[in-house]
Amino acid sequence: MREYKAYCFDLDGTVYRGKKGIASAITFIQRLQQAGNEPFYVTNNASKTREQLQEALMAVGIHAPLEHIYSSALVTAKYVAIHFKDKKVAMMGSDGLRQALLEAGIKPVEDEPEVFVMGIDRKLDYMALAKAALFIQKGAIFIATNQDIKFPTEYGFLPGNGSFARLIGDVADVEPIYIGKPSSAILDIIAIEHGFSKEEMVMIGDNYDTDIMCGINFGCDTIHVNTGVTPTNVVLEKEQQPTYIVDTL
Ligand SMILES: [Mg+2]
Repeated sequence: MREYKAYCFDLDGTVYRGKKGIASAITFIQRLQQAGNEPFYVTNNASKTREQLQEALMAVGIHAPLEHIYSSALVTAKYVAIHFKDKKVAMMGSDGLRQALLEAGIKPVEDEPEVFVMGIDRKLDYMALAKAALFIQKGAIFIATNQDIKFPTEYGFLPGNGSFARLIGDVADVEPIYIGKPSSAILDIIAIEHGFSKEEMVMIGDNYDTDIMCGINFGCDTIHVNTGVTPTNVVLEKEQQPTYIVDTL
């Protein structure tokens, strides 16, 4: 295998499942760090802040610098700040997204938004979904942090933000703008902020449709690992193959 300067790891199903670390991934990451190569962490999970993701990594034995942790919430906030400057933005989601928006200079409003941003909200209720559907019917631009239908946990798969975004999109008859993987936005930002070329980067993940396609869309090498969403036999049937396919890291 080639050596890279930026190893970009997906988290859920690649580094950990729920609160349980995946041992082979942790060993691999620690070896990179011992060799002086500090990895990057790239997650569609928009519910956690950078600090909370750092804690989740710490809990499975990985010390990660904050500026190497990228969530779809962080990148969504940067995207909204660039493309919809001075617009009224409402959001649905948790701490991770709210903090990312505030840090990007966007103070979310409660009513009559011109832009509606949707991340996962684990305390979701019907009224919040109803409000979101109405905002979008009234013309708010619909942006979702990610389109993951499900994510793996130690208990099994749970509903992801994509399942709720699709629901709202179906009701309002609008296709959301998705920012997380497989969009290349997260890798674009890492390349810009840390000064890497595509040849120096590799995207590593368990989910073909998000992680591997993100790397392919961005134009860097990819490693599929068989510890999460997409089993290897399904990956092998895909037209565009990852650069490498491994059972474990
Ligand atoms: Mg994953």
